[in-house]
Amino acid sequence: MKPPICRICNKDFRDSEEGGLVYFKKRPSDLEWDKKMKSRPGMTGHPPYADWFCGEHYKRAKELENLTIDEALKKLRT
Ligand SMILES: [Zn+2]
Repeated sequence: MKPPICRICNKDFRDSEEGGLVYFKKRPSDLEWDKKMKSRPGMTGHPPYADWFCGEHYKRAKELENLTIDEALKKLRT
């Protein structure tokens, strides 16, 4: 897992309780990633369809979790 740094504003919020990890809808490439990870026990990594959001952006990101990460980030940045 990556350290908790907001994908939108790059705020490092590891010392606060705010924010969290949001898992978005999986793209075909994300399903491939899951399969690859499962076939290699002991391998860990940051899921490409998940990212951290600070307290300020978490709520909005969570509302978009039914979109893929690409679509959600596009909306979050506007
Ligand atoms: Zn943020």
